[in-house]
Amino acid sequence: MANIEKHHYDVVVIGAGGAGLRAAIEARMAGMKTAIISKSLFGKAHTVMAEGGAAAAMGNVNSNDNWMVHFRDTMRGGKFLNNFRMAELHAKEAPDRIWELETYGALFDRTKEGKISQRNFGGHEYPRLAHVGDRTGLELIRTLQQKIVSLQQEDKKQYGDYDARIRVFAETTITELFQDNGKISGAFGYYRETGEFVLFEAPAIILATGGVGKSYKVTSNSWEYTGDGHALALRSGATLINMEFLQFHPTGMVWPPSVKGILVTESVRGDGGILKNSDGKRFMFDYVPDVFRKQYAETPEEADRWYTDPDNNRRPPELLPRDEVARAINSEVKAGRGTKAGGVYLDIASRRTPAEILKALPSMYHQFKELADVDITKQPMEVGPTCHYVMGGVEVDPDTAAAAVPGLFAAGEVSGGMHGSNRLGGNSLSDLLVFGKRAGEHAAAYTAGLSARPAVKPAELDAAVEAALAPLQRDGGENPYALHHDLQEVMGDLVGIIRRKGELEESIAKLAELRERIQKVGAPGGRQYNPGWHLALDLRNMLVVSECTAKAALERSESRGGHTREDFPKMDPVWRKVNLVCSLTEAGDVELTHQPVPTMRPELLDLFERSELGKYMTDEELTHGAA
Ligand code: FAD
Repeated sequence: MANIEKHHYDVVVIGAGGAGLRAAIEARMAGMKTAIISKSLFGKAHTVMAEGGAAAAMGNVNSNDNWMVHFRDTMRGGKFLNNFRMAELHAKEAPDRIWELETYGALFDRTKEGKISQRNFGGHEYPRLAHVGDRTGLELIRTLQQKIVSLQQEDKKQYGDYDARIRVFAETTITELFQDNGKISGAFGYYRETGEFVLFEAPAIILATGGVGKSYKVTSNSWEYTGDGHALALRSGATLINMEFLQFHPTGMVWPPSVKGILVTESVRGDGGILKNSDGKRFMFDYVPDVFRKQYAETPEEADRWYTDPDNNRRPPELLPRDEVARAINSEVKAGRGTKAGGVYLDIASRRTPAEILKALPSMYHQFKELADVDITKQPMEVGPTCHYVMGGVEVDPDTAAAAVPGLFAAGEVSGGMHGSNRLGGNSLSDLLVFGKRAGEHAAAYTAGLSARPAVKPAELDAAVEAALAPLQRDGGENPYALHHDLQEVMGDLVGIIRRKGELEESIAKLAELRERIQKVGAPGGRQYNPGWHLALDLRNMLVVSECTAKAALERSESRGGHTREDFPKMDPVWRKVNLVCSLTEAGDVELTHQPVPTMRPELLDLFERSELGKYMTDEELTHGAA
């Protein structure tokens, strides 16, 4: 048995993004000894990259906004496949989570009256995104970290030790979860720098590991988004839902090749930017789908008036939900009206003054200047779709964030249900605050309610060590970088933005081949900072999550939100009632089952006009008043 460092905690949070930090604060404030584990450096989670803002119906800029309007927008954006209870809790609680952040020290941009300012974003009826320029995620993470430091200072006073009740384990990757009689008992991982192993014995684990984008070749996601939390949940017997729904953000950089995929925030469009094809045509007016026609402007004149008079004009079509805009750009490029680099133009230079652009979009200005030598105050940007966000994720109880395995919780991007088939921009930062808090609270309550602590079994620990060491011990094994490249090719080419039956079948066959090869992955070198070894361990997570996505994408024979089937181009009301649930068989194979989407409560259904519901629901559902 290898030498293993051991720790005991009441609650272990895997992930130090917004969801993980908010969960950890809540668990610690409930009196739990809490660990925060992060694969990357502390403060370098995805949340820090969030630019546009956090959606919360505070009504600061337009007093017509309230939780019911936000709820409606979220359900529309998700094309009514959302877990309605999550969407309801999110819409109701997001304002409190934002105000609470200010009590932790956050400083959002202000309106002239001194209220928290809110900006427009796609799919949101009113200006709703609380923001700090285009660096909102940075402020969010800074504030949550500051709150953790203040809690540690309290602990230092009381116990003489900063780490007494909340400790951060940075650059530490979890590779296995353990169970005792079906209940969570701990987590196992390694320190990235030394390669030494570490065991956390804990009855409650909160997964806050973010998304899966690194399975795709063009993505806005960074190296740590390898679907670890999704895979850990699956392997421990929990379920994932709706993994076919991936958000391809319409505007990633397309040039130069080295930065392809890096995000261009939606705030550019929220603040007046428009999309043009290579003929100079503002093309989004040609792509407003019937379900949204009533809410979007028909002419450029009306769209432009909306920025100053939103009560009497309809929104510009550039602010349609992301799936619609991404498909429109894809169609323009395919029709030969794209740029040489395969994108379209996003123009803010001709729409706002340089001073306005520099104030609202400082990061975008620097990003384009430094990476592409483009001055966005003078020139248009070149943009195209990039894999950005996974709507599918760990199936959780909406109120408690509990997964199917006792002691396991999930919050933030790793969880599923809240966003249905497509997430609205800004709804992730608010989601991770609302459900991060709930996960922390309920994980603490779960631990407090246990009469005995589940124990980690030595045999399970041995197996985890063996699995972690295997790639190092395999001489002449498959190269992890080549495998990663091949996996990204399969997912990008065959399970991308537009999907077809034959290609999806091909992807499943290719993923099966990759599964065999990944079992033979080898990583030469020792355990001390060995990125090849780290990737080798991540690959099995990316693979199983990709299998869920490909199989669910083949099964769902309709187009909805972040899942577009060329062979089934329309939404099908019968499929709206179905969640696709992904689990693992005893043999470790991916299995799909159908599960009914929860039925919305009548008073929530009443928030929508019947004519609108008719676009999504079957006649039978409407007749019986259930959805
Ligand atoms: P993250 O913030 O990614 O944190 C995941 C954490 O898990 C990290 O600490 C990581 O190291 C850790 N981790 C992962 N695997 C392991 C493991 N095996 N062991 C230990 N630790 C692990 N959303 C909005 O609402 N508004 C925006 O303006 C916005 N802009 C965005 C801009 C960009 C460029 C990107 C990429 C995303 C943006 N999003 C935005 C989406 C949003 O930022 C993310 O969905 C959200 O931050 C996810 O937060 P999280 O806490 O779930 O995960």
